[in-house]
Amino acid sequence: MSLIDKFGRVHDSLRISVTDRCNIRCFYCMPEEGVQFTERAEILSFEEIERFVRAAAPLGVTKLRLTGGEPLVRKDLAKLVARLVAIPGIRDLALTTNAVLLDKHAQELYDAGLRRLNIHLDTLDRERFRQITRRDDLPRVMAGIDEAVRVGFTRIKFNVVAVKNLIEPDIVPMARFCRERGFEPRFIEFMPLDSQLLWGRKKVLTADEMIAMISEEIGPLEAVPDADPRAPATEYRYVDGGGQVGFIASVSKPFCLNCNRIRLTSDGKLRYCLFAIDETDVKGLLRANASDEEIQAVIRRNVSEKWLGHEINSAKFVPPPRPMYAIGG
Ligand code: SAM
Ligand code: SF4
Repeated sequence: MSLIDKFGRVHDSLRISVTDRCNIRCFYCMPEEGVQFTERAEILSFEEIERFVRAAAPLGVTKLRLTGGEPLVRKDLAKLVARLVAIPGIRDLALTTNAVLLDKHAQELYDAGLRRLNIHLDTLDRERFRQITRRDDLPRVMAGIDEAVRVGFTRIKFNVVAVKNLIEPDIVPMARFCRERGFEPRFIEFMPLDSQLLWGRKKVLTADEMIAMISEEIGPLEAVPDADPRAPATEYRYVDGGGQVGFIASVSKPFCLNCNRIRLTSDGKLRYCLFAIDETDVKGLLRANASDEEIQAVIRRNVSEKWLGHEINSAKFVPPPRPMYAIGG
């Protein structure tokens, strides 16, 4: 019953975008003036998301990640968390957030059953944070981190987007901050998913460059043996035992051959890749009270159409028709 594509990849992970809205404006994701967000009526309800996951779980989907836009701007997100963790077969639920609203919601999310958090934070410097996100919210993010730790979240991961000629001064401070506080940073190579087409190959700070910077300034890193080959991050650890560091080298070392993920957008489209051009509508099915079998057939068809991988590094590469915030990162 597993979801296996024509290249033999097993799909057990579903990323669910709960909104395309966001309360900040990271320049590599959204334009400063904002965008035309999807109408409320077009966004999947919690009931519809739950219904979809209940149909997907028997196909071997065991891991979920809630994302967006900014998932915490969606009202009552903890209620969705509680519904999803209760679904038979779901073993793992994670949330990716910019943490601006985390101080308000950490407790209820934890109480609802959430245990895994990825916090997106590129810098610890208030002025640089303001430049990158066009909002002066670093103090709220830091309060959110403290609150998450206080309520019991452990092994929090931090997403840092690696844009060359910009983020270099933040790499070592972010790595140090995580090392000191027992968090794991994940440095993500800048990808061509911004709405303003700012991306270029030369604007990517590569994993190898960052490994060299961290090894030199903090201490030597070594690849983690037996790391999960299907995880998007390549895991390293400090030789002195001071923790782990992940690198998502989507551009310099694409990991498509190990991809185990499908994605559901907030407006109910199923995508087999972040960079996919085509997507399959499932909202229509959910709103027409389709049976589990009908939903499952659509999921299977989408996975069967999955390509071998994105071709960011090829001249043929075409950026996806929607930016990251509208797909769900
Ligand atoms: N708002 C949440 C956040 O920022 O974490 C969840 C959605 S955001 C689209 C998911 C992740 O995408 C972010 O954590 C950030 O690391 C990553 N991201 C956004 N734009 C990117 C880009 N152009 N290249 C690489 N990663 C990007
Ligand atoms: Fe918002 Fe996340 Fe995009 Fe930043 S990366 S603008 S926090 S959705």
